This record gives sequence, structure tokens and C-alpha cells, in this order.
Amino acid sequence: MYYKSTRDSNVNVTSAQAIAQGISKDGGLFVPSEIPRITFDDIKTMGDMSYPDRAAFIFSKYLTDFSETEIRYCVDNAYTDKNFDTKNICELAQLFDGTYMLELWHGPTCAFKDMALQILPYLITTSSKKINLDKKVVILVATSGDTGKAALEGFKDVEGTQIMVFYPVDGVSKMQKKQMTTQEGENVAVCAIKGNFDDAQNGVKAIFTDSEVENELSKNGLMFSSANSINWGRLAPQIIYYVSSYSQLVKNEKIKLGEKINIVVPTGNFGNILAAYYAKKMGIPVNKLICASNSNNVLTDFLNTGVYDRNRQFYTTISPSMDILISSNLERLLYHLCGENDGQIREWFSSLADSGKYEVSDEVKAVLKEEFYAGFCDDIQTKACIKKQFDSHSYLCDTHTAVAVKVYEDYREKTGDTTKTVIASTASPYKFSNSVLDALGEFNSSLDEFELVERLYKVSNLEVPKSLAELKDKEVRFKDTIEKSDMKGFVLKSLGL
Ligand SMILES: *Cc1c(COP(=O)(O)O)cnc(C)c1O
Repeated sequence: MYYKSTRDSNVNVTSAQAIAQGISKDGGLFVPSEIPRITFDDIKTMGDMSYPDRAAFIFSKYLTDFSETEIRYCVDNAYTDKNFDTKNICELAQLFDGTYMLELWHGPTCAFKDMALQILPYLITTSSKKINLDKKVVILVATSGDTGKAALEGFKDVEGTQIMVFYPVDGVSKMQKKQMTTQEGENVAVCAIKGNFDDAQNGVKAIFTDSEVENELSKNGLMFSSANSINWGRLAPQIIYYVSSYSQLVKNEKIKLGEKINIVVPTGNFGNILAAYYAKKMGIPVNKLICASNSNNVLTDFLNTGVYDRNRQFYTTISPSMDILISSNLERLLYHLCGENDGQIREWFSSLADSGKYEVSDEVKAVLKEEFYAGFCDDIQTKACIKKQFDSHSYLCDTHTAVAVKVYEDYREKTGDTTKTVIASTASPYKFSNSVLDALGEFNSSLDEFELVERLYKVSNLEVPKSLAELKDKEVRFKDTIEKSDMKGFVLKSLGL
């Protein structure tokens, strides 16, 4: 299997090249040249496997240039109970009859990003060895909160790597900020920028594609790679848990083999839901992919109308990891849907860059309608949903997961569809204790973030993740806040160039 660029179909690289490089030189994203299929027999067999074994099986379909030993090395280092607080790696909990929460937050930073970022450093270092790069890999990350910390934890002190993380100064929760600014490790740097997530992401993209910077790095034995979900090595691990959860539902006799399910995903950069789309195309029986947004509902409008228009107010919400107006991974979906027409993608995305807007063709609109349902809710509805799920199902959702549950409830009411459903539960409620307590009517503004955690424990009795409790006594190491125009300078300075 080879990987093409969404902006140049003639690009043809191995998975190792795609993962080591992160983004294509033409600014496009790497996509597999074909989507591998799995059979119902495979799904059945996977039901009896451990999570690492399921992961190795799926990876072998996508990383065809990796040896079995190389895949095992990556999988076994990432998906262990040293890094995750459950042997199952992710859990499937019942919300109510026929509706299941796929809990993806049992890793070291308590958000679903760990599912990919615990393995990405192994995928990247293995990839760069495979293609005989003797360069040190420099990872640049733009984060809306969760990716940054998860990437820092994944890469800290990994030999042959260095990592720099940029976050919007007012766009992350106190707990997220504390998680990042106290990061340990000799190869890490963290910096706040005056701007929002899109500014941070655009800044990182610009540095990546700056040939002057690239030359400077190259002269010094360094190369960039990306830990954002534009890297294929981020996306592939996310496909696994959707396939895994389906095989588990079959194994536990919650669904029949071949029975369709809905998948609901709280969406920001479109990475997690795109992974669900790939799982469907691999052969997992899926009825609707339900895309849930917060007040930054650019995707809701796009999936309903075919017009992507980022010219709108940006809201800072209680689900900050979804406060995004440019969803990068949509480019991959559109590339597949428009028949791999790279010229078309270049046209739409240069229009997005120039005017903040593009409109897809009628054919693409029809497929989007068929595959997806999209909805959104605001902060008030999100909080009401947290309270409702806690009161009626004793299930405590974080603010992002609650957006998904609310949009799913609306979908069910509107369509009457009672197909069995998996909802991605993307963060531990303790990561957003203040908003969750507020939703439950238990918030007290005189408490600091750690007292809030204790209070949420008293109210919910849900176990507090150890990694969050331990933050309290850690020293803040990173205090810089810079203008968004100074990101390039920060990178060069941090590298000593
Ligand atoms: C990143 C994140 C999301 C959004 O996922 P995308 O892949 O960007 O769509 C949702 N919830 C949480 C908790 C996240 O950290």
C-alpha cells in the first residue's frame, strides 16, 4: 500500500515516509491509496483478541512496509497497563439499553488523544529508521488543549526527538494549562500564543512549509514532523478502537455480526470521526456517522449544505478541544469523496485560504448526506445534558462527550432511529471539573482546580485519575506567552539556530 497527497495524486510514498514526514511538501495530507478491507470472520476473530493484538492486526493492513516485529514493538510499548489505567486500554460502558459509551480516556492525560499519541513516537522513530534518516525529529504541535499534553507525554525523553507545543493563551482549561506548563522531560518546550487555536495551527503549518526554515534545520541534522492529526500516524491508531468496539459488541452478544451501528463523535478537527469513516469503509457495518459540534458549528452547516464557510464568530466554549473553525482532516474525506481529484481539492482549499469559503459539488453533497448526520449544541444545552445523564443514567460525561450525547438525543428524537449506537467518550470529566460541577449545580468559585476535583469526587464517587491528582505538587516550568507572528522565531531559538 502507498500513500498519496490530497493535493498531488502523483505523490506515492510508503507509510514510513508519510509518517516520518507528517505533511506532504505540497501542503496536502497523506491518504492511503486504497482502504483495506476486513471480513466478518476477521471481526469475529478479533473479538477474542487483546487490544494490542487487535491493533497489530489493523496496523498490518495499513503499514504494509513495516515488519511484524516492528509493528509489535510499537504496539506493545504503547498499549500497556503501565500507560493506561485499564488492561482493556479503552472501555465500553452502557449508557442505556443499546447505547454504549466508548471511553477513550484511560491513558496518561485522560483524553482520547492518548490512544494515538502513546504510539505515535514509536511509529515516527521506527519510520525514520526504516527510511534511513539519521536526522533528529522535531515535533511541532498546535493544540486546543488535549493534543499538546498527550503529545508531550508521548514524546518526552524519546531518543532522537524534540517537541514544541503552542496553545492559545485563553483557549484551554486551567487543568489543561497546568498539565502542559508542568511538563517534565529534557526534550520539551511549551509556549502560549496570543490568538486562538486556528492561529496556532496556521502558524505551525506555515513553519512546516517554510523552505528557509527547512534548509536551516537540514543543515543542522534536524527535520520536522507533525503530531497533529494531519499525521497519518495519528489517524491510523484511531481506526483501531472503532473496529475493536464493534468486535467487542459482537463478542458480548450486544449486536449480531453484520448488524449496523451508529457512531457518534464530538468533533473539532474532524480526525476522530474520519477514523470512524475509515473503519466503516474497511467493512465495519455502520448506519450513520453522527458529527456533533459545539457553538462553533461550521461542520454542522457544511454537512447539511455542502458550503464550508469559516467567516463567522468564533466562540470560546466549555468544550475547548472542539473550538475550531478549520477542520483539517475534512480534506482527506473530500479527497476520497471527489474521486481523488487533487485539482479539485487544490481549488477548494485555496478558496478556503483566500476567502474562508468553498462549496462542494452536488455529487459530494449527496454522499455527505448519505453517510453523515450533523448537529450541534451550545454550552447551556451541554450542561443540561451532563446533569440529565448523571441523574437518569448515573453516567458522568465531560463537556465534549456531553455534546455528542445531546446531538445523539436530538437525532434519535428527530429520526426515530433506534439503531444500536456507540458514542465516543473523549475525556475524563475530571479534566473539566469546573464546568461539570457547574452543570451539576455544585460549582463554587472560591475553589481552585484541585479542590474542584475533590468536590467532583464527593458528588460523583467516580475514581480520580492519578495523573491529574499528582499535578497539584508539580512546578510550573514554562511561562512564555508570545505574539502569533513570533512563532517561527521561538522555534528557531528553542533549537539554538
Ligand atoms: C480533540 C478532542 C475532540 C475533537 O476531536 P477531533 O479529532 O479534533 O475532531 C473531542 N473531544 C476531546 C476531549 C478532544 O480532546
